[in-house]
Amino acid sequence: MTLYVTSLASGSSGNVLLVRTGDAALLVDCGLPLRTIEPALTRIGIHPAQLSAILLTHEHGDHVLSAGALARRYGVPIIANQPTLAAIEQDLAGVPFQELATGAATMIADFGVRSFPVPHDAAEPVGYTISAGGWCVGIATDLGHWNDTIVEGLTPADLVVIEANHDQEKLWRAPYVEVVKHRIYGPTGHLDNIAAGRLLARLGADGRRRSAWLAHLSREANTPQIAEQVVRGVLALAGVRCIGIAALPRRAPIHWSSDMHGEQLSLFD
Ligand SMILES: [Zn+2]
Ligand SMILES: [Zn+2]
Repeated sequence: MTLYVTSLASGSSGNVLLVRTGDAALLVDCGLPLRTIEPALTRIGIHPAQLSAILLTHEHGDHVLSAGALARRYGVPIIANQPTLAAIEQDLAGVPFQELATGAATMIADFGVRSFPVPHDAAEPVGYTISAGGWCVGIATDLGHWNDTIVEGLTPADLVVIEANHDQEKLWRAPYVEVVKHRIYGPTGHLDNIAAGRLLARLGADGRRRSAWLAHLSREANTPQIAEQVVRGVLALAGVRCIGIAALPRRAPIHWSSDMHGEQLSLFD
């Protein structure tokens, strides 16, 4: 069984990740307007009614914007922990939903899904690992810092989707008010490029080959080039050569498949 992952949007203007096999599909977060997400899914051959579920990481608008509307229109269940469901209660009228407690695991169609807590200023934010056919994608965007729980959560992942939100120097020069800068920089804000690199270096210490997508890049305080350069630099300093890096664009669909990962692996040998 092949595992396919597509990033449809990443960043503070919207986050949508599609995870699918040949037979089943689910979304992680749904932070684009309905008028954008419907054609975006159709263009890659997915009808929204085919989705087995919409998993939510937390209730911030860039992650949940059209989750309720899409779920209601197509009868797709929303899956999240209880505090996140409570935070979006007003959007859940007529929406099928299911609670997945933080740290719990479940099967959804072809997928083994497990959540783990992440430090971020939301009700009870989580990351996920989603597995099918022996392959695994791990997702942790929106986290102020990383810890052993996150390393353990992401360890099974062949594709790691982690936040590389900002370059610290660019953040302090960015056109935000001070309170926002401190929120972003703080322990429950957003992960910077160096911290993302260190998290990947820690994961890479086991020598296992992984792909990594750098996600949720700040428009004002980062660029894909800077994020990739900094993370590659941290990995090189740590002597970690087993992780292939790519920064996610804000909108264009970017694809990963376990078949492609297998082919890429041979390039390392
Ligand atoms: Zn976000
Ligand atoms: Zn957030």
